[in-house]
Formats: sequence, structure tokens, C-alpha cells
Amino acid sequence: MDFEDTQEEAAFRAEVRAFLAANAEPKKRGVPARARHVDAEALSRAKSFQAAKHDAGLVGLTWPKQWGGRELPQIFQVIYNQEEEAYAAPRGVFEIGLGMCIPTMMAYATPEQLTRYVPKALRGEEVWCQLFSEPAGGSDVAAVRTRAERNGDEWTINGQKIWTSGAQFSDFGIMVVRSNPDVPKHMGLSFFFLDMKSPGIEIRPIKQASGASHFNEVFFTDVKIPDSQRLGAVGQGWRVALTTLMNERLAIGDVPRPDTEDLLDLARSIELDGEPAINNVSVREKIADMHVRSQGLKYTRFRTMTALSRGQTPGPESSIGKLVNAAKLQEIASFGLDLLGAGGSVMDKDLAPMHAMFQEALLASPASRIAGGTDEILRNIIAERVLGLPGDIRVDKDIPFNRLPSGKR
Ligand SMILES: Cc1cc2nc3c(=O)[nH]c(=O)nc-3n(C[C@H](O)[C@H](O)[C@H](O)COP(=O)(O)OP(=O)(O)OC[C@H]3O[C@@H](n4cnc5c(N)ncnc54)[C@H](O)[C@@H]3O)c2cc1C
Repeated sequence: MDFEDTQEEAAFRAEVRAFLAANAEPKKRGVPARARHVDAEALSRAKSFQAAKHDAGLVGLTWPKQWGGRELPQIFQVIYNQEEEAYAAPRGVFEIGLGMCIPTMMAYATPEQLTRYVPKALRGEEVWCQLFSEPAGGSDVAAVRTRAERNGDEWTINGQKIWTSGAQFSDFGIMVVRSNPDVPKHMGLSFFFLDMKSPGIEIRPIKQASGASHFNEVFFTDVKIPDSQRLGAVGQGWRVALTTLMNERLAIGDVPRPDTEDLLDLARSIELDGEPAINNVSVREKIADMHVRSQGLKYTRFRTMTALSRGQTPGPESSIGKLVNAAKLQEIASFGLDLLGAGGSVMDKDLAPMHAMFQEALLASPASRIAGGTDEILRNIIAERVLGLPGDIRVDKDIPFNRLPSGKR
């Protein structure tokens, strides 16, 4: 492992630090990092910050220069993310568009389409969302049922997507749909991008336990998409979808909050049996256990960074990192709530200790064990691709999609 930045990496880190110091607010300790709601004001703040980042040349770092990028190796994006972690910088709104949708466009869209869409996405003027998951197709995206029927140069879309993050403020979306139900599931899919303001699209926010509505149900009734907005060949949508999924963000620089430092702050600030909770042996033991896990994750991150710095592709340790991180976050939040006792039921940021950071994390943490691959799917990946264990049983692989048993028959 190599813990030091190269000269070039150190110079870039300094450039990022100077930009952030001039354009963003440092995160305050004990304050939740993300806004609970993305309202009009939060969206406008995020767009202004993205424009400033763009003008400073700090967006699309790994992208081709032709499309506004800097053609830097992936390690530079990791360095940027690491530095941004210390600031309350609103980047979430653009993560899916710039991380997944536009890279898919770059692989399949025409040069004219790229000229039209990429610059505005990069500068944050237009927001994109990813319409993959459906009630019957999440981990198994190839099982989607939303239908696409062709009439000449136009397609008609009918069906439903779910869990679509940011659909309520997105301008465009990418979607995978079923264009041929007579062939096995992976072979009958096609892939499109579309205007989210098209007639026939209805977006219904889903209310989460925290009170926020980050994601939505999206209904399609006779929505028309020109054939020119198809990405990839008819029936080859699965291949295009894999391009999107391979671009899921490398969350290497991220340390989810609250972490053990926050737990320590909490244990020092509240009392248990008439003395600071930090003096209690079992509290100390639990925090020590969390600290060990945090350190394990930190050095695993360094391993991945070393690989990236050497121009290698990171190995399956990123799946391990996500699996352990998500469970740890939930455990830390839950232990924080135990320490808070009845005070843990207060959600008001102005009244609750540490601005209700543990309460918020407890409500949000189950999502991190689902989004971007559930715990079980990640375990399957580790089992099959790291440990070489026999593959999951896939009985429906070769059967025409419309002959698979469904609840409707
Ligand atoms: C915060 C958040 C944001 C999201 N944003 C988006 C978005 O923007 N766009 C989008 O398209 N989707 C989005 N999703 C959806 C997400 O991709 C799916 O929720 C996820 O892939 C799981 O699919 P599912 O919910 O249908 O669960 P299912 O796939 O139905 O899984 C149900 C349970 O069965 C288990 N399971 C499934 N298959 C197997 C297997 N083969 N072996 C063992 N266990 C299995 C799962 O682990 C899980 O516990 C988001 C989800 C979250 C939580």
C-alpha cells in the first residue's frame, strides 16, 4: 500500500482544497451532512455550486476533453470526493446523471445528441434520473415489465417504475423497458432516454420514514419516445443497462456519518448512571469495536486507492466496503439511539443532541443496505466472483419472458 500522493496528485489536492475553501462551507461536527429535503431552494443551491465547480474545471474529471472533461485517471475523482467530504457541498442531485446516465449516453448516443445534452448536464443546468427499478424488477432488473411498442419511428411506453431518485426535479431520464416479451428476459429489452416532462408521465413522490421524499413512483401511460432516442440496438437493452450499472459511483472517498468520532462526542456529552457515558465499560467496548471496523474500512479504502493510483481497476473489495459500511452505519445509529434513551425520539434538529444526526441516520440507514445492490446481492457477488463458489441458481434464464409464472396467471 502507498499512502502518499504522487506529486501530480498532491498538486491536484491543493487545487481542490483552494476551490472548496473559496466556494463551500466546511461541515460542522455533529451536523447531518445531507439536506433532508431537496426543495426548490436546495436545488438552486446545488445548481449554483455545480456551475462554480464546472467553471473551475473540477467536473467530469475522467471524461474526454471533447465533452468538457480532463481525461484524468479515476484516482483524481476519488481525491476530489475525499476533499469534498469535509464540506457541506450539495452534490447528490447530479450523482446519478453524471455518474451513470451521461456515461451511458457517451457510449451509445450520437455526436449531435452529446453536443446537445452533455454540456448542460455537466454544468448542472439539466438534471437526469435513472428509471430501472420496477415493482417486479429491482435486484433482477432484467425482469422489468414496462412495455415499449414500436409504431414506425416512434415508441409507446406503458407501465411503472419505482424508487426513481430525483424524478421530481429531473429534466431527462434513461430507462430500460421490455420491447419483446416472446424471448428470454435478458434478450427482450430496449433502452431509451426521454424527456421527463413528456405527456403521459405521472410522478408520485414516496414518503420515507424520515419524512423526506427522495424517490418516486413514475407511471407511463402512452408516453411517446422517438426512435432516435433509443440507445443501442432493439433487444440489446440489457447490454446498455450493464454499461450504466458498471458506472455506479466508486464510493471510495466516503466515510458515512455518523462515524465513531461522532459516537465518541455523543458518549462524552451525555450521562449514564450519573456519569459521562464514555466512562461506562460496555459503552467503551462497543465504541472500540466500531473503531476497529472503521479502521478496517479505512485501510481497505487505501488498498483500492493504491490500485487506482497505479492505473489498476479496483477489485471486489469495493463490494466488501459497501456491505460492511452500510451495516456499520445502521449499528452506529442504533447504538447512538440507545445512548440517547427517550431523547432519541426527538427529531427536531434545534432541540435534539447533535442536531438529531443519529435519529436521521437510523431512519436513512436501511436504504444504504438496499440501494446500489442489496446486502444479499453483494454477498452473492463476493461468493461468486471473489471466493469462486458455485453461482446462484437462475432457473428463468432461458425461458421466454411471457411464459414465466407471474402472480397474474
Ligand atoms: C435510496 C434508494 C435509491 C434508489 N434509487 C433508484 C433509482 O434512482 N433508480 C432505480 O432504478 N432504482 C433505484 N433504487 C432501487 C434499487 O435499485 C432497488 O431497491 C434494489 O436494486 C433492490 O431491488 P428491490 O427493492 O426490488 O428488492 P428485491 O430485488 O425484490 O429484493 C427483495 C429482497 O430479496 C433479496 N434478494 C433478491 N434477489 C436475491 C438473490 N438472487 N439472492 C438472495 N437474495 C435475493 C434482496 O436482497 C432483498 O432482501 C433505489 C433504492 C434505494 C433504497
